[in-house]
Amino acid sequence: MALNAIRSLAQRRARVGSPAVDQPPRLGEADRLEVPAQPVVQDRLKSDVLPYFPRLIVQGAVILLADCTDVRKKAGPGLRESFMKKIVTAGEILVEIMATQVGQTFLTPGPLIGPFPSGAPAIFIDQAGRLGQPAGIISSVGADDFGVLNIRRLEASGVDVSAIAVHEGAATGSAFVRYNRDGGRNFVFNIRDSACGLIELDAAARSLLASADHFHVMGSSLFSERVIAVVKAGIDAVKARGGTVSFDPNIRREILSAPGMREALNFVLERADVFLPSGDELFLFTKARSEAEAAAEILARGVRAAVVKKGAAGAVCYDASGAVHSPAFAVEEVDPTGAGDCFGAAFVSFWLRGDETERALRLANACGALAVTKKGPMAGTASLAEAEAFLESRT
Ligand code: ATP
Ligand code: MG
Repeated sequence: MALNAIRSLAQRRARVGSPAVDQPPRLGEADRLEVPAQPVVQDRLKSDVLPYFPRLIVQGAVILLADCTDVRKKAGPGLRESFMKKIVTAGEILVEIMATQVGQTFLTPGPLIGPFPSGAPAIFIDQAGRLGQPAGIISSVGADDFGVLNIRRLEASGVDVSAIAVHEGAATGSAFVRYNRDGGRNFVFNIRDSACGLIELDAAARSLLASADHFHVMGSSLFSERVIAVVKAGIDAVKARGGTVSFDPNIRREILSAPGMREALNFVLERADVFLPSGDELFLFTKARSEAEAAAEILARGVRAAVVKKGAAGAVCYDASGAVHSPAFAVEEVDPTGAGDCFGAAFVSFWLRGDETERALRLANACGALAVTKKGPMAGTASLAEAEAFLESRT
């Protein structure tokens, strides 16, 4: 159905205030919500709902017009698929194996714990799936336990795993991490020469991209020409369909020197709608010295929301309407790995749902905080109910 026809159907229904006019939305009885028309709701439809939920309009304008938040809670999985934007990412799936003691090195034998499912784009997409966002990942694992462990985990979180290729004869990627006394981390990565190095735009990846509304890029995924090509194709495919792109530079100095990475980082930034740097990553792309000036430079390049993550100090979102600061929640930090990925997935999910910046930031801070309270990069990813319960407990 053409957008104009959908819009006029939705508006007519809103005016009449009954789903009985025209044909009723094709939804299960349990998903039905009949509400009176409200001018304020019509305004919201015109300004910010239609661009975000075009697919729901096709199936159930009346319900969408009622209240997006309410719909989300009541919607069954079928309906959810039909109105929420699908996020797709591409990149490394790894297992993570951690030193258990702060200050431990890998120069002598020491206690380790793992394997845990991991990989920055995998953590991101796991968190998006846990929040109920349609989500999928293009990746590659070996035909081994590490691969199975990851696929099972993502599937359990509702992530579309159809574009994770399983390669006989290749080993799933891995990261060994140790924690320094100054709070820093060091990694030993096996990514480029693992199954991750075989990521490609095969038929399954193309098919997943054909269903995507949003593409997320982790800078850490730009580790080889091959993955860079997949990421570029993903961005182009989603942009060609009028979708959006988010970008977390997630720079790991261990892989910053990969050939083509710098050029690829710039390629992605030029096309990003949401930019999610942490620490000094903001200044990698600007001449400015202050955070506000750097954010302004980034916005001038076409980014719509620049969200600076600040660990235990929370986050700031810069957009056309100014800066919104949101403090972090005080929690006991058990394992910081994955906080940025969980934060980013939550912010992007709620941004795509058209939520206010304040709410998107608060939920993202909640997901970041919950992530650091558990050992294991995906162990702390929160469901929507868990994130909202956490927020309620803190207000
Ligand atoms: P990553 O190590 O996953 O790449 P990052 O550097 O991208 O992390 P951070 O700024 O460390 O991102 O963390 C992201 C968000 O997680 C923060 O903005 C904050 O909301 C939350 N967070 C991180 N650390 C803490 C903490 N110690 N206490 C509370 N919240 C935290
Ligand atoms: Mg990060």
